[in-house]
Amino acid sequence: MPLSIATPLLESLPLSRASGARVWMKMEAMQPSGSFKIRGIGHACERYRADGAQRFLSSSGGNAGLAVAYAGRKLGVPVAVVVPETTPERARRLLREEGAQVTVHGRSWSEANAFAQSLKTPQDAFLHPFDDPLLWQGHASMIDEVVEAGLRPDAVVLCVGGGGLLAGVAEGLHRNGLDSVPIYAAETEGMASFNASIQAGHLVELPAVSGVATSLGARQVCARAFELARERPIVPLQVSDREAVDACLSFLDDHRTLVEPACGASLALLYRQRIALGADANILAIVCGGSTATIESLSRFEG
Ligand SMILES: *Cc1c(COP(=O)(O)O)cnc(C)c1O
Repeated sequence: MPLSIATPLLESLPLSRASGARVWMKMEAMQPSGSFKIRGIGHACERYRADGAQRFLSSSGGNAGLAVAYAGRKLGVPVAVVVPETTPERARRLLREEGAQVTVHGRSWSEANAFAQSLKTPQDAFLHPFDDPLLWQGHASMIDEVVEAGLRPDAVVLCVGGGGLLAGVAEGLHRNGLDSVPIYAAETEGMASFNASIQAGHLVELPAVSGVATSLGARQVCARAFELARERPIVPLQVSDREAVDACLSFLDDHRTLVEPACGASLALLYRQRIALGADANILAIVCGGSTATIESLSRFEG
């Protein structure tokens, strides 16, 4: 049995009304680990275990780490996650509840990540949060499900952190003969590493990232995401933190599902009519989910 589930594909009247097109939601927020990440990470963990891995290592205090912890618990493989001191107590608790051994090390993610790498023995598998072809293969299954359900979308809306979701969705569209379908790729202004690379014409590492959409916080996207922008139609767009949070709050009212501001960034493209497609167009919105937001943190947001 795969670690991820086949998620609902739902038509959204509120998002259709707001955007002026027909919007279909792929409800990845319903995944057992709270986000789409378990598709790719679950696929990779199953492969690594079959290849003999005796422990899974991660340096993510976010949804990638949660997906690794969930996969390890289900597969009976111990999981160690190294997170920096900046990781909120709630995130540490969620990881421990999944049975992961959580080590706090360093003041930044790069210090925690370096320490995690130093722990790695030949029996360990290290799970990268976005830059691994096994992840993209796993993420692609969400598009297989959409096509099996009978929808061949005219456009896809998603968000970009390190670009693993983008690479996986592009792979899923490719293997279903949908290479010409444009992908609208949202980032928040403070986390716009994909936008920066596209503008520069080469891979750019941002000196710093900032803002509320912490799951989009990769300072540089993976090379595959950048290559894809040359191979197929991808439209990079930016929203403000305020727009991303407002989209989360509207989505909670409209669909009774709490998602992170990272996910809100893509929903904001629809709520704010940033994509001009005709009323007959079928837009597939990847509701990527996320476990790090609370109602309190969203309603308290100022900016
Ligand atoms: C990881 C994540 C993203 C970004 O995905 P990438 O593969 O890094 O681009 C967006 N939203 C949520 C909820 C995530 O967990």
